Amino acid sequence: MGLLTEGEPLSWEETKKLSEHVKKHGIIQFINLYKKLRDRQGDVLKWGDEVEYMIIKFDDNNKTAKLSLRSDEILAKLNEKEEADPSGVKCLWRPEFGAYMIESTPGQPYGGLSAHFNIVEANMKYRRQEAMEQLQPNERIITFTNFLRLGCPNSTDPTSKPTPNSGYQRSLFLSDDAVFPGHPRFKTLATNIRQRRGEKVIINVPIYKDENVPSPFREDLRALGDDGSSEKVAKDDHVYMDAMGFGMGCCCLQVTFQASNIQEARTLYDQLTPFCPIMLALTAACPVYRGHLTDIDGRWFVISNSVDCRTRGERGLEPLKENERKIRTSRYGAVESYLSEQGAKYNDVPLLYDEEVFKQLLDNGIDRLLAQHVAHLFIRDCVCLMSTQLDQDDEVDTNHFENIQSTNWQSMRFKPPPPNSSIGWRVEFRPCDVQLTDFENAALVCFIVLLSRVILSYNLNLLIPISKVEENMTRGVKRDAVNTEKFWFRKDITSTADKSQSIEEEYGEFTVNEIINGKDGVFVGLMPLIVSYLNNMNIDADTHCTVQRYLKLIQKRAAGKLMTTASWLRKQITTHPDYKKDAKITEQINYDILKKVYDIQTGVQSCPELLGFCTTSKTTESVPTAIVNAIK
Ligand code: GLU
Ligand code: MG
Repeated sequence: MGLLTEGEPLSWEETKKLSEHVKKHGIIQFINLYKKLRDRQGDVLKWGDEVEYMIIKFDDNNKTAKLSLRSDEILAKLNEKEEADPSGVKCLWRPEFGAYMIESTPGQPYGGLSAHFNIVEANMKYRRQEAMEQLQPNERIITFTNFLRLGCPNSTDPTSKPTPNSGYQRSLFLSDDAVFPGHPRFKTLATNIRQRRGEKVIINVPIYKDENVPSPFREDLRALGDDGSSEKVAKDDHVYMDAMGFGMGCCCLQVTFQASNIQEARTLYDQLTPFCPIMLALTAACPVYRGHLTDIDGRWFVISNSVDCRTRGERGLEPLKENERKIRTSRYGAVESYLSEQGAKYNDVPLLYDEEVFKQLLDNGIDRLLAQHVAHLFIRDCVCLMSTQLDQDDEVDTNHFENIQSTNWQSMRFKPPPPNSSIGWRVEFRPCDVQLTDFENAALVCFIVLLSRVILSYNLNLLIPISKVEENMTRGVKRDAVNTEKFWFRKDITSTADKSQSIEEEYGEFTVNEIINGKDGVFVGLMPLIVSYLNNMNIDADTHCTVQRYLKLIQKRAAGKLMTTASWLRKQITTHPDYKKDAKITEQINYDILKKVYDIQTGVQSCPELLGFCTTSKTTESVPTAIVNAIK
């Protein structure tokens, strides 16, 4: 989850005072970096995935499944291999926000060979195995977007009580012990976001109004130690949450690509932006929050609210104080402006930035689109600053820039090359909820990478006004959005823009099925384009077979022939014998579902309604020698 620098974090008061210093130098660092690297050319396609996991402790006698707060210990073990041989390991392990979370990436990025599509899943399987070796007998590693009883009593091992009047989060529900303790970044972010905001974060998710959910649904927060501040903001008929951990404690799947140059990175960033909400709907895996079934299917806005550090004035609830401006969005959210020339005319939401910073960027030769993007990132204060990081050499360091960049959690991230490295300009695709199996996660990763290749090779144009993308994000997390929602999408993505058309005529509303699979005579569909691209590609038989199976899965999910993880979870809950139609996830339901999830992940149980009947691929651990030799 971003920059992990050494040192002791400064208090919020100190950080606040130094925020302008960080921003001032961050911008200079970006300018210096840009000047050195804007003409960098010829980087090859490299890509990789990031998977976030949670560690569960099962107690089969008492039928409980809890979050095991041991990721610090487990990571120390997992990192030994990398410490001994940094470039020789098959995967890398990193901390995440939760003390029960770990994150991993492949040891080396994948490249431009089609055979690389066939090693993604094997690598994911290997990672699970490697992690399993460090777990205790009752612990299991799972890819699951949100723990069903996160923040419910007795949901962690060891048990730990929330501390509403002290600590970092001050939650009525979630203990600070659930925040990763091994690096100060995480607790510092939680503290500083809360302090900057001036109050706890507020997350209200509509509850699923099943027959026995009281009307209105309202919990007794005073009984949990609330001083009245939570009661005031908790909405009727909503599941109320009050801590960063409820959002950043969720797990996702991300994909990063290296582009051949900055121009290509800008194109990919823009072209994939309208696709983010479609992927929210297609990967939806998160209908449950704090032990309650809710009326949404995805994590996106929960995380957004969980790190919303805006003050009351900035949120438009109070008159502005000195140096404050109204800010439309949280620092976790959808992309707010396109970066390519082609995208410029679709930038229709008011973008907030500091005029002086913008001008400074322009004066240093940065074009308007990139300048406004960077200046917009820099409206956010620094919310985590290490004592060792104050004075940097702006010619060589980029930590101040990275500090602000890595706490802007957008649906896409535009990443400049790190200084003095062999890495080029990159973009990161960030919207997907993580899926249960390696098969599904690998399928999504390959699909997204293939889509990026098709966009570039066929010169596709997916652009629509950014305000419509924003609207789509809210549609993407709705209950069963794949089957019930329509999304704004560009009607003709294959021809160059028809100049006689107005922007409004360029887009219409489509279902996910239409967008992915196409609709005769109306919309070409992304999948047929990918299939045609693959047909023109030199691809070995095994990889071909694997990719076909991955694409089938996605086609069927889009068509509603297979369930999304969220729909499947809803069904598991509402048909569980212990379920009382009260939207509550009991310990028994939690245990049974997680057991099943684990069995599905490990292939012990099949799950045709979620995965279909064809859930194995021909994935292999490495690219076969014959293929490597053939291209030499
Ligand atoms: N866990 C966060 C999410 O689900 C992402 C954190 C990160 O940027 O790695 O979106
Ligand atoms: Mg992460």
